[in-house]
Amino acid sequence: MYIIGHKNPDTDAIACALIAADFFRQLGMEVTPIRLGALNKETEFVLNHLGLQAPDLKTELEEGAKICLVDHNETSQSIDNLEKYQLEWIIDHHKFSLHTASPLNIRAESLASTASVLYKMYIENNLEISEEIAKLMICGILSDTLYFRSPTTTEIDKQIALALNEIAGFQDLEAFSLEMFDAKSDLSDFSARQILTLDYKPFEFNGKKVNIGVMETTNPKFALNMKAEILTAMQQEKTEHNLDGILFVVVDILNEKGTAFALDEFETNMIEGAFDSKKLDDNLLDIGNVVSRKKQIVPNLESYFA
Ligand code: MG
Ligand code: MG
Ligand code: MG
Repeated sequence: MYIIGHKNPDTDAIACALIAADFFRQLGMEVTPIRLGALNKETEFVLNHLGLQAPDLKTELEEGAKICLVDHNETSQSIDNLEKYQLEWIIDHHKFSLHTASPLNIRAESLASTASVLYKMYIENNLEISEEIAKLMICGILSDTLYFRSPTTTEIDKQIALALNEIAGFQDLEAFSLEMFDAKSDLSDFSARQILTLDYKPFEFNGKKVNIGVMETTNPKFALNMKAEILTAMQQEKTEHNLDGILFVVVDILNEKGTAFALDEFETNMIEGAFDSKKLDDNLLDIGNVVSRKKQIVPNLESYFA
């Protein structure tokens, strides 16, 4: 069985492909973790720090291959031609909108990271959590919670991170999370198009195709200074993929604030309709304490388009 994190992978997606591989191997299965895209700089930093290899990049598998999706469940975020494969498992923490051809195993919880869900699966199955796996789980949690700042964070995620650190032994979790976020924020050699699509997911709201890019950063000025180039990249994405709308939100991790880029009238109306927002200029809107696509941006857009 192949274990697959989502496209435009983040730290949770990559870490959980590796963690789930260990989980299923301990249960006696033969599994291969893979990834669907390039690593972001935070994930690169984490894997270097742990001395681990990334899962192999594979965007096509042999027809009928068994697969397990981690950290996602939507077809549009998954391997192309998902219907060619035998979907055996989903382990996730997102909203669901999936039709499947056959019965399958699903484990989903509204915890802040898929790593937290996998932690519970290890405990329930009495499996050993190695130092390496504990570190990967913590990194998934720190990344998805923005060091417990995101409103997705639950008491359970915090308790899990503390329990895991008994094994992982990070001296200072907050300091380590800052190193992760600073690594992620160093985008000096990235094009505007790469910045837009680094953490980027397609959605459909009431028949409207809207892609959402989020840039979590400790250096929001960097993206704000690239406004013109990013707007051009947004226009290209919108045209090439025939989208109804496109949204790019810069999340200031340390100050827990979101700034939305509005390309055109459709987007300005969408942002103003969905969020309590303040116009900063023709293309930038302060959307306040919005940092989570999963828990704030997507649900607000769902209600707006409904
Ligand atoms: Mg993810
Ligand atoms: Mg996740
Ligand atoms: Mg994330």
